[in-house]
Amino acid sequence: MSDRSFLDWPFFEDGHRRLADELEAWCGRELDDDEPKDVDSACRHLVRRLGAGGWLRYCVPASHGGVHERLDVRSLALIRETLARHSGLADFAFAMQGLGSGAISLFGSEAQKHAWLPAVAAGEAIAAFALTEPESGSDVASIDSSAVETDEGWALTGAKTFISNGGIADFYVLFARTGEAPGAKGISAFVVPADTPGLDDSERIDVIAPHPLATLRFDGMRLPGEALLGERGQGFAYAMGTLDVFRTTVGAAALGFARRALDEATDRALTRRLGAGMLADNAITQSKLAEMVLDVDASALLVYRSAWLRDTTGRRNSREAALAKLHATDSAQQVIDKAVQIFGGLGVTRGNIAERLYREIRALRIYEGASEVQKVVIARAHLAEHRA
Ligand SMILES: Cc1cc2nc3c(=O)[nH]c(=O)nc-3n(C[C@H](O)[C@H](O)[C@H](O)COP(=O)(O)OP(=O)(O)OC[C@H]3O[C@@H](n4cnc5c(N)ncnc54)[C@H](O)[C@@H]3O)c2cc1C
Repeated sequence: MSDRSFLDWPFFEDGHRRLADELEAWCGRELDDDEPKDVDSACRHLVRRLGAGGWLRYCVPASHGGVHERLDVRSLALIRETLARHSGLADFAFAMQGLGSGAISLFGSEAQKHAWLPAVAAGEAIAAFALTEPESGSDVASIDSSAVETDEGWALTGAKTFISNGGIADFYVLFARTGEAPGAKGISAFVVPADTPGLDDSERIDVIAPHPLATLRFDGMRLPGEALLGERGQGFAYAMGTLDVFRTTVGAAALGFARRALDEATDRALTRRLGAGMLADNAITQSKLAEMVLDVDASALLVYRSAWLRDTTGRRNSREAALAKLHATDSAQQVIDKAVQIFGGLGVTRGNIAERLYREIRALRIYEGASEVQKVVIARAHLAEHRA
C-alpha cells in the first residue's frame, strides 16, 4: 500500500482527500496492469471509461460539464499521480484530454467551448495539442507552419510531430504562424477537427513506452474563420498559458511512477532472500530505499506546493511549476533506476513492473519543456528577483 500521509498536508481541502480515495477505489476496480497489444484501442477505451467514471470532468470548467469553475490543479495533480501509479496509459489518456482541450477552456470562444468541452468531459471526443514541429521543439517561438487568411477563412500549411493522440484524436488545437510579428508574437491557435480535408495524421511514431503518437501534415488545409482560437497573434501566449497549468501535473505523473517503483521495490526487498535474511535487512538496500523515500517526498512537496499556489492565488506559477516538473521527473528516473537495481535480473526483464516504469518515465524529462528548459525558467526567475 502506498504512503497516503501526504493527503493530510495543508495544501489540500477535504474535497481533494475524498477525490483521492474515490479514485483509488475506482482504479482498483477498473484498471488492469497489462501492457496492451493495441494502444490505440486501449487508449480510446480508457478515455471512454474515464469519462463514464466522471474523472474527465476535472479537465474542463464547470460551465461546460466540469467540476470546478477554474481548472483545479490540485485535483488534476492528484488524479494524475493516482492514475500513473496504476497505469501509465490511463494517466496519458487523462492528461491529454486536459492538455488537448486546455487552450479552449482558457481562451476559446463560447461556440468552441460548447462544441468540444462537454464531449471531452464525457470521454466522447479525444483531444490533442499540436505545437512541436520537425524543426522546432524546445524553441517554440520559431515554429514555421503557416496560416494564411483567405476569403473563406484560413489555409494552413506545415507539419507537426510527436503529437500525442495523433491518429486517434477527434480534434487538434494546432499552432501556426500568422505573421503579425516575427517570433513569439506572430503565432495563432486554431481548433482543427481531425476529419478536416487535407489533414494527414496517418504517420505514426513508435516510442519506448507505446502511446498513440503521430506526425501531422497539411498543405493548404482549409479552415473556417471560426477555427481561430482567441485572438490573432496570441498563440504563443495561449500555448504557454496552457502548459503553465499542466506542467505541474507532469511532475505529478512522475511522482505516481516513482511511488509505484518505491512500493514495488520495497515489497521485493522484504520478500527476497539474501544470505541469512532478506534483501531489506541489508544496509546498502536500506540506504537505497531511504534515498527513494526522500526523493518521493521532496517531489510531492514541490508538486503540491505548485498546485496549491496556482489554485489559491490564481497567479502564474512558472517558477514553482518548473521546480516541480524538474525535480519530480529527474528524481523519478533515479528512484525507478534504484527499483530496477533492487529487482536485479528481473528488473530488466521485459514486462516486469520496474522495467516498464523505466521506459515509462523517460519521456517526461523531455516533453512539456525539457529539464534544461525548466532550469532556464528557474534561473531567470531567481536572477530577476536578485537583480530587482
Ligand atoms: C512521448 C512524447 C510526447 C509528446 N507529445 C507532444 C504533444 O502532445 N504535443 C506537442 O506539441 N509536442 C509533444 N511532444 C514534443 C515535445 O514537446 C518535444 O520533444 C520537446 O519540446 C523537445 O523538443 P525536441 O524533441 O525537438 O528537442 P530539441 O528542441 O531539439 O531539444 C533537444 C535537447 O536539447 C536540450 N535543450 C533544449 N533546449 C535547451 C536550452 N534552452 N538549454 C539547454 N539545453 C536545451 C534538451 O536536452 C533537449 O532534450 C512530445 C514528445 C514526446 C517524446
